[in-house]
Amino acid sequence: MTATIIDGREAAARVRADVAREVAELVEESGRPPGLATILVGDDPASEVYVRNKRKVSEEVGITDHHRHMAADVSQDEVAAAIAECNDDPEVSGILLQLPVPKGLDGAALTGLIAPEKDVDGLTPISVGRLVKGTPGLRPCTPLGIIELLDIHGVSIEGAEAVVVGRSDLVGKPVAALLLKRNATVTTCHSRTRELSAVCSRADILIAAIGRPRMIGPEYVKAGAVVIDVGINRTDDGLVGDVDFEAAAELASLITPVPGGVGPMTPAMLLRNTVRAARMQLGAAVR
Ligand code: NAP
Repeated sequence: MTATIIDGREAAARVRADVAREVAELVEESGRPPGLATILVGDDPASEVYVRNKRKVSEEVGITDHHRHMAADVSQDEVAAAIAECNDDPEVSGILLQLPVPKGLDGAALTGLIAPEKDVDGLTPISVGRLVKGTPGLRPCTPLGIIELLDIHGVSIEGAEAVVVGRSDLVGKPVAALLLKRNATVTTCHSRTRELSAVCSRADILIAAIGRPRMIGPEYVKAGAVVIDVGINRTDDGLVGDVDFEAAAELASLITPVPGGVGPMTPAMLLRNTVRAARMQLGAAVR
């Protein structure tokens, strides 16, 4: 293997330690810790695990827990009212509506009700607009985690040829926007892209956010490329990414494993966003 493996667990621990220090500073400055309201509707087991983990890491760094668990048969208006209460509550700095919500509820419409300055998932239309415009605002957590990993490893983004495979609102589009903001030359690919391996093999930075186990083989990877694997796929062989790790690691200079690469960064960046949100609400200038 030639590639250096990017250790997302260690990077996430560093981010959490930084956030814990910032929380202590905020308490000193404002007399109050930041608060995170997680809103879970229904009993989807995967969503329950995600929310439990986010609450646990938040409490570990001193962020106050304002969790709300609502029944699966709750109405759109009741969830909207819960979001409105959190928007108005000065002790709540960040609001996270866990998606997907149960059938019968409109998750996109509910997400849009979150106040932009409390939108720690960065998914409301206003936050997306700010991201695309490059104006200050809260950005989605997984894309932020990817940029953090590139920065920690000193990857030069400016001028780099970056190829993102996947165009979801959650990962592909926002990570492409963040890379563009950092002056990469960005190509976004999707299921209708022709000659995908040829496009990917031009990349200095290749980001796979597809949801197809080990789809990205060696023919997609340029020698010396940085390969970031966002995919989380449950298979008979356990958890695997979208990249054929062993084959790609023979060619790449840096590569994220699955698990232990991008995954741990997402909750860590949520904590950072919650502190940013608290600072925005105090009127501090944030980038
Ligand atoms: P998604 O909404 O399903 O989007 C997948 C994207 O991949 C779509 O844009 C789709 O293209 C594209 N695609 C699918 N098959 C393709 C193919 N054969 N060739 C080229 N492009 C193809 O998924 P997502 O939410 O972005 O998540 C992607 C992966 O990342 C999943 O495995 C998910 O579990 C994982 N994930 C991980 C984290 C983390 O914290 N590590 C966070 C979020 C997601 P079209 O648009 O044309 O359909």
